[in-house]
Amino acid sequence: MEGKHFHTIVKAPTSFPIFCSGNTGIDSNSGKSLEEADLLVVTSGGLRIPAHSSVLVSVSTVFKKMLDQPCQKPSFKNIIPILGVPCNAVIAFVQFLYSNSCTEEEMDRYGIHLLVLSHVYSVRHLKLKCVKGLGERLLMENVVDVLQLTRLCDAPDLYLRCMKMVSNNYIEVQKTEGWKFMQDNDPWLELEILQFLDELELWKIKRKKNREERNLYIQLSEAMECLEHICTEGCTSVGPYDRAPNQQKKKPCNKFPTCRGLQLSIKHFAICQKRVKGGCCACKRVWQILLLHSAICDQTGLCKVPLCRHFKLKMQLEKEENGKWKLLAKKVVSAKVMSFLSSHETES
Ligand SMILES: [Zn+2]
Ligand SMILES: [Zn+2]
Ligand SMILES: [Zn+2]
Repeated sequence: MEGKHFHTIVKAPTSFPIFCSGNTGIDSNSGKSLEEADLLVVTSGGLRIPAHSSVLVSVSTVFKKMLDQPCQKPSFKNIIPILGVPCNAVIAFVQFLYSNSCTEEEMDRYGIHLLVLSHVYSVRHLKLKCVKGLGERLLMENVVDVLQLTRLCDAPDLYLRCMKMVSNNYIEVQKTEGWKFMQDNDPWLELEILQFLDELELWKIKRKKNREERNLYIQLSEAMECLEHICTEGCTSVGPYDRAPNQQKKKPCNKFPTCRGLQLSIKHFAICQKRVKGGCCACKRVWQILLLHSAICDQTGLCKVPLCRHFKLKMQLEKEENGKWKLLAKKVVSAKVMSFLSSHETES
């Protein structure tokens, strides 16, 4: 009886190398012959595929459990039904169990089914292959179908990839058959997608805010560097208080756009009349930059930045103010470190 089925398989018009390589071999590499097959995989279409329990057990814990169980009906022990997917998908699946590979064409045609089978029978290698293969083959037309499947098959990487595709092409995806079918049959998934889009939007806003904040700290840290450089060695038009102005006329430094702005502000600060009453915004900024400097500065007594010592003493007296400025100083210093590291990364 079994021999007859085997005969049918070998002659079946599947043209898959496993079943047709040589005259009898299931897989020439595994050294297993068709005669040694001890079970049959049965498909929905009635196809019977001979296979070796030793191979199935070695690649899938699910098959191992299934085949190790003592069976009450000995006649069914050697039949494994794999139903609900196309016959050729089952053939590709069994072939993978033997060869650990599948063709691009099989992935094109049966990728979705192979993902389901790899999940159900816990064949990790095939699942990884399917996640990658299906990810590369995502189209507007199938993305919702694949998305539904990833939830059932627990494939988070592919799930995320689908969600990103849906969010990037929301209008187009809504016009597909898959979307319409989902709306009618799986409203929870639609809700999940909308929630994902919302969270993505919030995340983008947050990321933008973080980036702006970091840029501000980097700018401040650059201003701190320029301030020290102006007050110790001097730049194009402003120099240290203890050096004569005609000794200036230096070349612009490498942070000149920032440095120039700061020099102009310092010059203004020196002559502004409103400053005394505290009504000038430009002077207020210089004042804040000097304050921030003194919160960062670790030179004792030797610092040439104006008011540094004065602010340090003041901060010691006003503990609360001190905390606020110290926190800002910390952020500015860490932004400097981060930008140094990232510029180093791009260099290497
Ligand atoms: Zn400069
Ligand atoms: Zn002013
Ligand atoms: Zn200082």
